[in-house]
Amino acid sequence: MTLFVVTSNPGKLRDFAAATDEVAATNFRLEPLPGLKEIPAPPEDEPTFEGNACTKAIYYSRQASGALVIADDSGLEVDTLGGAPGVRSARYAEDAGFAPTSDMPTDERNNACLLDALKDVPEAARSARYHCVLAAAKDGRIVHTADGTVEGQILTKPRGSSGFGYDPLFLLPEMGKTMAELDASTKLAFSHRGRALKKLLTELG
Ligand code: IMP
Repeated sequence: MTLFVVTSNPGKLRDFAAATDEVAATNFRLEPLPGLKEIPAPPEDEPTFEGNACTKAIYYSRQASGALVIADDSGLEVDTLGGAPGVRSARYAEDAGFAPTSDMPTDERNNACLLDALKDVPEAARSARYHCVLAAAKDGRIVHTADGTVEGQILTKPRGSSGFGYDPLFLLPEMGKTMAELDASTKLAFSHRGRALKKLLTELG
């Protein structure tokens, strides 16, 4: 059965693409929803990852009759910032009005904003986690949700060039590497998204 992923975030799409072989072993197939770009995006204004993931899954499943769609809502929770940027991870610098230069790409700007917020915070107090909720829906109804987290630490300087978003700042202490220093399939094995996907496939299976 095909699971149609409803994200246009290239980083998330690469993570899902890395799961192709693993997913094939479960008799499911993951594919981007055809025509997604032509569908106006729904608002993402829920206070929780689950709320936003369900809103997106329900909305897109109504536009794709009979299809089982999978929506991802995810972000970074930094303990000393009270869980921020959390559900606002994609818009963190924008919300803070943080703009060192006018042409800085969004991910870089968010990372610079995070480093600025943590500039006086010592290494021992820079704990954080990535959190992902996946919601599966069909014809406007939620079928299953699953969540995944991964614990880490925020560095003081970016490292690595793979991944996206906050990956160059997110250290996996037990590996001594940032998420941006891992290839896509290793990232998936450890990541919040990979863990949520594994749970969701088990539930759907
Ligand atoms: P969403 O599209 O509202 O779910 O926002 C997700 C945001 O959280 C992304 O734009 C990134 O800033 C951050 N994020 C979520 N997952 C990851 C990841 O796997 N790596 C890096 N950043 C992530």
